[in-house]
Amino acid sequence: MLKLAQSTTQQDDRYALSDGSRVAVVGGGPAGALFSYFLLQMAERAGRTVALDVYEPKDFLNLGPGGCNMCGGIISESLVQMLATEGINLPPGIVQRGIDSYVLHTDVGTVKLNPPGHERRIAAVHRGGGPRGSKRRNWGSFDAHLLKLAVDQGAKLVPERVEDLAWEDGRPRVVTKKGSSEAYDLAVLAIGVNNASMKLVDKLGLARTAPKTTKTFICEIELGTETIDACMGGSMHVFLLNLPRLEFAALIPKGDYVTLVLLGEAVDKELVAAFLGASEVKACFPAGWQLSEDYCRCFPSINVRGSTKPFADRLVMIGDAGESRLYKDGIGGAYRTAKAAAKTAVFEGVSEEDFRRHYFPACKSLGRDNQIGRLVFLATKVIQKLRFARRGMLSMAAREQADESRAQRLSGVLWDTFTGSAPYRDVFRRSVHPLFLSGMLFEIVRASIGKPVWDSTGGNEVIVSELGKMFHDGDVIIRQGEAGDCMYVIQSGRVAVVREEGGQDVPLTELAEGDFFGEMALFEKDVRSATVRAIGDVRILTVDKKIFLRKIHEDPSMAFRVMTKMSRRIRTLDDELARATAAH
Ligand SMILES: Cc1cc2nc3c(=O)[nH]c(=O)nc-3n(C[C@H](O)[C@H](O)[C@H](O)COP(=O)(O)OP(=O)(O)OC[C@H]3O[C@@H](n4cnc5c(N)ncnc54)[C@H](O)[C@@H]3O)c2cc1C
Repeated sequence: MLKLAQSTTQQDDRYALSDGSRVAVVGGGPAGALFSYFLLQMAERAGRTVALDVYEPKDFLNLGPGGCNMCGGIISESLVQMLATEGINLPPGIVQRGIDSYVLHTDVGTVKLNPPGHERRIAAVHRGGGPRGSKRRNWGSFDAHLLKLAVDQGAKLVPERVEDLAWEDGRPRVVTKKGSSEAYDLAVLAIGVNNASMKLVDKLGLARTAPKTTKTFICEIELGTETIDACMGGSMHVFLLNLPRLEFAALIPKGDYVTLVLLGEAVDKELVAAFLGASEVKACFPAGWQLSEDYCRCFPSINVRGSTKPFADRLVMIGDAGESRLYKDGIGGAYRTAKAAAKTAVFEGVSEEDFRRHYFPACKSLGRDNQIGRLVFLATKVIQKLRFARRGMLSMAAREQADESRAQRLSGVLWDTFTGSAPYRDVFRRSVHPLFLSGMLFEIVRASIGKPVWDSTGGNEVIVSELGKMFHDGDVIIRQGEAGDCMYVIQSGRVAVVREEGGQDVPLTELAEGDFFGEMALFEKDVRSATVRAIGDVRILTVDKKIFLRKIHEDPSMAFRVMTKMSRRIRTLDDELARATAAH
């Protein structure tokens, strides 16, 4: 027994990352960049200096495939909020459009779904430098932005492709195409599913199955900003069409371009042609519009089932190479697996057992949710096939959108299904609620006895490539004494925090870009303790209590930054109190 305890302790030490340990991250997409950022940040907090190399052959500032990781580029509402809470804001240069609504198109009509709180919290981004052949370079790359955060945190970028992985004295050795060869204490594979790199792992003979993938279609259509504003506005357009093999289709406006994404079974040129020929799709483009011959397009793979064992001693697979979210918010999945792996490596160790016990649960939780997601997509498929169900659904959603005082049951379910903002289990639970089902049944009957089908797209709103809500000089963002259930992160501009005493404003402090306020409402039910006013124009992003608490439950370390700030504020107040007492 004693012997066993000793050997366990020995093993823990052998597999701990200590001062001077070396980590290789293969792949600098969202998973690799976020892993690097979090690992270095956590190691610093733990008082350890770790050397981390990120191997990434692509220059994400290049146009076309050379700089692109083939993706729709929608950063989900929940991920935007989580990143902001972690201190990672997405500046206007990176955000091509702040998506202000979703428009659902079917053969029986169209409905516009507005976001909760009418706030832009979904970002449409280019992952790389922009579409092949584009002349204007008026955007930043999302992947380059994340990678720079990692480099600023201390990661070394090695712009080379990894050709070989081998074990040497129980440690991984990374060999690049250019011939460099380095040994590490931990190798992290963040290689996605769109290249032949999985063979690196196969060669190591690890007992695991590769992620299961399916083919998709993506293309960039240049229409010009004015045409896009007029035809599509700031909305993402999603389609429920009864086309064989089509699961989901979306048009995503970005700057001068619209990104088209098709998901389904064995997506091919014929399905693309059938989709573009549908009258509901043509209606989104200018009259007589034709797709040019030479446009930027590809048929990338998407992860539909994760790897069964994405870890071994001193090796872990993250992002798409490990486990992802089914069809939606893959980048959110990359964030979750990256952070779970970084936490395990810094605070638990890098042995197979450490990853099994502390990292794998995050993958399994995504996998379980994806199983429920399959049910949600099955239900969507059934609706896609039944005209009366489509009419009922559209009618119910339009009625809810027309009257915001109604419970937004279907709108909420559709919003979270299309945007990927909530776990599928949450979407499923709400869509089997008796009130939801009876409401839907009522609308189906109504629609089938001939009531007119609703068609509501509303007017296009002001188009902006920024997230959050705008406030102007003197506007009150939160008021002392009012109940609150969210926190606010300043995206740009400044605010004044004041205490209202006897009709007078007593200034407490000023906050600027990147700061947050109202965080106490996330932890307690009390009213706001101060008033916050805009100084000049200020752009603010709201973080919902529900989303924050759900994430804290999964990942308590997310509260670290908020706690640190709260503790600093208490210290400042203590100092001020001490000064005031001394002055009397
Ligand atoms: C058509 C389509 C649309 C999508 N739309 C969305 C969306 O709108 N929103 C969303 O959240 N998700 C979307 N996804 C999913 C999303 O793209 C992925 O979940 C996400 O990119 C995963 O990030 P990753 O870092 O794991 O992998 P990747 O983004 O694929 O990055 C892997 C990186 O590893 C590098 N690499 C590979 N092999 C090597 C090697 N041997 N040496 C060095 N580097 C290497 C690659 O160059 C690449 O940069 C979409 C996917 C598809 C296919």
